[in-house]
This record gives sequence, structure tokens and C-alpha cells, in this order.
Amino acid sequence: MCAIVGVYGAKNAAKIAYYALFAMQHRGQEATGISTANGDKIHLVKKRGLVTEVFDESSFEFLKGNCAIGHNRYSTAGADSVLDAQPVFAKYKLGEISVAHNGNLVNKYEVRNRLIERGAIFQTGMDTENIVHLIAKSQNDALVDRIKDMLSKIEGAYCLVIQSRSKMFVIRDRFGIRPLSLGRLKDGGWIVASETCAFDLVGAEFIRDVRPGEMLTFEEDREPFSEQIFEPDYHPCAFEYIYFSRPDSIIDGKNVYQTRVAMGKMLAKEAPADVDLVLPVPDSGVAAAKGYAEGLGIPFEMGIVRNHYVGRTFIEPTQEIRNLKVKLKLSPIKHLIEGKRIAIIDDSLVRGTTSKQIVKMLLEAGAKEIHMRIAAPEIKYPCRYGIDTPTQAELISSRYSVKEIAKKIGATTLGFLSIEGLIESLGTERTYSLVSFDGNYFAGGSAQSPGCSDI
Ligand code: AMP
Repeated sequence: MCAIVGVYGAKNAAKIAYYALFAMQHRGQEATGISTANGDKIHLVKKRGLVTEVFDESSFEFLKGNCAIGHNRYSTAGADSVLDAQPVFAKYKLGEISVAHNGNLVNKYEVRNRLIERGAIFQTGMDTENIVHLIAKSQNDALVDRIKDMLSKIEGAYCLVIQSRSKMFVIRDRFGIRPLSLGRLKDGGWIVASETCAFDLVGAEFIRDVRPGEMLTFEEDREPFSEQIFEPDYHPCAFEYIYFSRPDSIIDGKNVYQTRVAMGKMLAKEAPADVDLVLPVPDSGVAAAKGYAEGLGIPFEMGIVRNHYVGRTFIEPTQEIRNLKVKLKLSPIKHLIEGKRIAIIDDSLVRGTTSKQIVKMLLEAGAKEIHMRIAAPEIKYPCRYGIDTPTQAELISSRYSVKEIAKKIGATTLGFLSIEGLIESLGTERTYSLVSFDGNYFAGGSAQSPGCSDI
């Protein structure tokens, strides 16, 4: 999942990158890092932990230069080392390089095995290391040609920021699966970031989204130089809108919050429930629940309180801890719920863990009926393009019918948004990546191939 940022031509590049990463903390909480370049040298600080834990004033004394790139890493199984933090830094024939990557390469095993056969050594499990090796091993003279060479060898979903001692390169894969936007800083200089919420915090003006298949080159005394490297075949990820991005972000001209409200309204049409009250699962279901309540003309209440000091439920890998975490995170307002027929709205159903706990919690709080509504279609296939999903066998909708799942989670009824309803809510002007719902692995990989965390 992850967030990336690149800042070029700014006096306080590292501080700007820091605030941008802070705004995008929701995209990854496991580790964070910033590297800066001052023309002579690249400096790097990276560590496990949140943005506010990893950096302090002394970091910024060290992180000198007017170009900074940064990364927030999403928690994935087994990656327990600072080496797994990004950016990935290396020295090679042309000097120094630093790379930050958001996405997932579907041919990472093939590439890595080929490199290992030719004597390469790896320090981490990250596919980003493949990228650094491919650049270092290229026979081309100029870095830009080495990058193009590397791009011809990787497949899948990627947004990349690559830093040399004096330049910065930004690339979005030809499908534009993960979001990436370009902004201009108020006091001069440029910023690219996974989400526009980063621009709002640092006071940057949004210019445009980086185009699918585009490479932007930033160098001194020049406007960013754009090159279309690949023919675009645009498939932005629908899950960014459903769950992952921050509600205030704008991806490809669409505000995330508003698309979620539209999904909720569509859900009200497709799966209405005869209830007294609509509640969201906070925070991820709030916008959709508002749309659902408006669509049906039923009162909306924030009937479940979220403790914000607990991380997202997926951070701990074991099932026992996940169960406990839901309780730590959410608790019901009993007097709102007692004796009521409730529709409870969440953005997605993955393993079914959260829903089961919530239904139990609401029943214990005295609810008469619980109608669970999910503002996304059934997740039947693992994403291979950068959203961390469990194996197909763990996806409850890949194994059971809607009725069976309702029974398993203890809900009176259960309803999902249809794929057609999702497309209509997002707008039909472009083709979205719906891989988790329809199993169309258009950018390579398959339900069985390795996921984000499997190298
Ligand atoms: P589950 O409890 O396994 O059914 O997961 C569903 C809950 O996890 C929902 O409340 C979602 O907001 C959230 N969720 C969905 N996808 C992800 C993901 N890839 N990583 C973390 N949380 C997720």
C-alpha cells in the first residue's frame, strides 16, 4: 500500500517531505524514511515507526539539500527489519541513487531470480531492491536511459520516485493503478505525492495527476520535463476510493469522500433495509453510511465510538490479536442502540472478522435486528497491485454465499454493493481496476501468485 513523496527545488525539502508523509500516515505505519540530495551526496534517515517517532530536529540538520524523497511503509507480514524501510539507497557506477516505490511488481520473483543467478545479492524482501539492481546493472551510460531500461523489465503496479545527487525522476505505471499527483510549492519548487491531502498540509497548489505511463524529470533551472514512456491503459484502483485514500484527497479529479457518499446512496438503492437507524463503522464507513441514510431517508447516528489510539485492525498478523483489536478500537453507545433495528455500514468485508465482532457488540448493546451493508462488492480475489490482501482462501466472500456469510457473522441480513453499482458511483468515463471483485488481473499476476509481502 504505502505512500511516496518527492520534493524538488525547495529550501526545506526534508521538512516538506516530512509533513507530506505525516499527512499520508494512513497509507503505511510500519516504517518511514526520507533521503535528501544536495548535489554532492545523498543523506538518508529511515526507521521502523510512525513519522512523528522516526524524525526529530536532529534528522533535519542531517537531511540537507533541496531535493527530498520519502516513503511510508504499510505493515506486511514478517518484514521486521529497518532494512525493509524505504527509500532504498545504493552506490553504483554512476554515483548514488535512492528509490521509493508504491505498488507491487508482479514479476518480482522472475526478476530477482535472474539477478541472483548473475551474482546479485539482496538484503531485503522488497521488490524495490530489484529496481535498484536493474538500474545499476544496465549497460546504458545516462541514468535516465538506465531507468528506461529498468522500466522495460518490470511489470505490475508502481509509482516511483528516484533520486540521484542532482535530479529526481517520477514514474507512474501505464495503468495508473496507484494515485500520484504533481503540485507546486508556494515558495518555489515542486512536490509529487501519492495523495493530494499532502499538498493541503504543506500549502502546495495541485497542478495535475501524473499521467499513466509518464516519466517526469526534475533538474536544476528547468521546469519538470515530461516524457510518455508507455502507451497509457488507464485502470485506477477502485479500492483507493472505497477504503484506502483519505476522504479529503482528490484522485483523478474525484474527491474520495464524495465518491464514498455516492457508493452509500447506490447501496441504499440496491440493498435497502427497513430499519430505525443507520450507523457507520467508524471511520472507514462514515461517508458511505451518510449516503445510505440519505438515500433511504433514515436517521444517521455515530452510534459506535472509535478509540483513535489503536492502529488499523490489520497491523497485527495473528487472528487472536486481530479479534482483540476490534474490541479495543470500537465501542457502542448503548442508549442509541437499545431496542432498535439497525443498518450498519462498512466500506468492505475481507475476512469477516470486523463485521462479526461488530454484530456481536451491537446485539450485546441491545439492538433488535442488525442489517449489515457493505459499500463495496464482494472481495473474492487477492489484489496483486499493491493493496495488502490475504490469500484467496482467507477471503470470506470467495468461499461463502451472502446468506452463509450473514449467518456466520450473526447479522439479520447482509447486502453488498454490486460491481455495476460501484462503477456507476465512480463514474463510467474510465475503466477502474476491480481486480479484488472480478479477478481480472489485467496487469499480470494471478490469484495464486505472490502478494505484496511474499518475497
Ligand atoms: P475484515 O474484518 O477482515 O472483514 O476486514 C474488513 C475491515 O478492514 C473493514 O472495516 C475495512 O475498513 C478494513 N480493510 C479493508 N481492506 C483492508 C486492507 N487491505 N488493510 C487493512 N484494512 C482493511
